[in-house]
Amino acid sequence: MTNHHAHFNTSCVHAGVEPEPVTGAIMTPIFQTSTYVQAELGLNKGYEYSRTDNPTRSALQSALAALEGGKFGLCFSSGMAATDALVSTLKAGEHFLSCDDVYGGTYRLLKKVRKRQGILSDFVDFSNLAEMEKRILPQTRWIWIESPTNPLLQVIDIRAVVELAHRHHVRVAVDNTFMTPYFQKPLELGADLVMHSATKFLNGHSDVVMGCLITSDQALYEQLKFIQNAVGGVPGPFDCFLVLRGLKTLAVRMQRHQENAFDVAHFLSGRKEVNWVRYPGLKSHPQHDLHKRQTTGFGGMVSFELKGGLESARTFAKSVKLFALAESLGGVESLCDHPAIMTHASVPKEQREKLGISDSLIRLSVGIESAEDLIADLDHALSAVGA
Ligand SMILES: *Cc1c(COP(=O)(O)O)cnc(C)c1O
Repeated sequence: MTNHHAHFNTSCVHAGVEPEPVTGAIMTPIFQTSTYVQAELGLNKGYEYSRTDNPTRSALQSALAALEGGKFGLCFSSGMAATDALVSTLKAGEHFLSCDDVYGGTYRLLKKVRKRQGILSDFVDFSNLAEMEKRILPQTRWIWIESPTNPLLQVIDIRAVVELAHRHHVRVAVDNTFMTPYFQKPLELGADLVMHSATKFLNGHSDVVMGCLITSDQALYEQLKFIQNAVGGVPGPFDCFLVLRGLKTLAVRMQRHQENAFDVAHFLSGRKEVNWVRYPGLKSHPQHDLHKRQTTGFGGMVSFELKGGLESARTFAKSVKLFALAESLGGVESLCDHPAIMTHASVPKEQREKLGISDSLIRLSVGIESAEDLIADLDHALSAVGA
């Protein structure tokens, strides 16, 4: 484990990047260009047009592939554009099977957009694999996992899903946004594809929207690269530069997110205003052991339920000062989300209740500030709730 991280820390700084050959610039330049001059007909330097390829993007794609332990990386203009590129490999009548406690945008893409083009999809509970297996159809092409899930941090057994899926000749993709390759490497667990919202921890500074796909399967890569160019949802070179810069500190940021999240989770666990706390690193987490078997750590996301319903949540959200009330996650600054009204409002109320997303559920993205200050902020807000 230590060794693995020693290599990983080095990869964060160096993977995918070479000093620029013309000047020796140590940092990958922002190749802010749409086209490339050709020496003569049919003779170019590997770049023709920036939708197809751009050197800043290429460096980032190589870095991301190396960090996930894959051979190929592809970047997209958002996490949703990355997911949609995978969905675009399906034909009308083919089927996409996903876990049910999934990023809301993934559900919306399949049910509100791609369904109209005849792509079939189901969102089911993956905690019972026997039940899940019954939902695999002859037309199922991909199984989609998020682990831990959003916002309830349920853990799915990635190896077990992969084994089952492969027996049915179905491929597995993992949305690895919450864990990042610092803590979890789905390709090593047998998955065929990894997706990220690079908007979150990979970039880490809340100033870019981007997505990526990573695989070691060359045929799949070529199909996805064709779609990347044909559909055109590519990020610009400046955003690629920012994510490359963010990746250099991924290891130190994730370590600190985790330390702070542990402190916050322990603090919340001891408070009378709180019904329960969900963090994969707590022994009280129902799948703590499973999570430990497939990762090297627990990340920076903590969810908890306040006593007293929506009013308590309103008071809490109004009272926190350091935790900013905002959607998104994974930046250096701490954020606080109310899933029922904010990120998961598009999930129907009955479905929210079934999943356990109550009106007093709070999701924290714990940043890299001093833990003492974060805890003082939570202490103040909880006292307001309890008063
Ligand atoms: C944010 C997010 C997405 C979507 O990514 P965008 O970059 O916002 O398009 C997908 N999955 C998870 C887990 C996310 O948090």
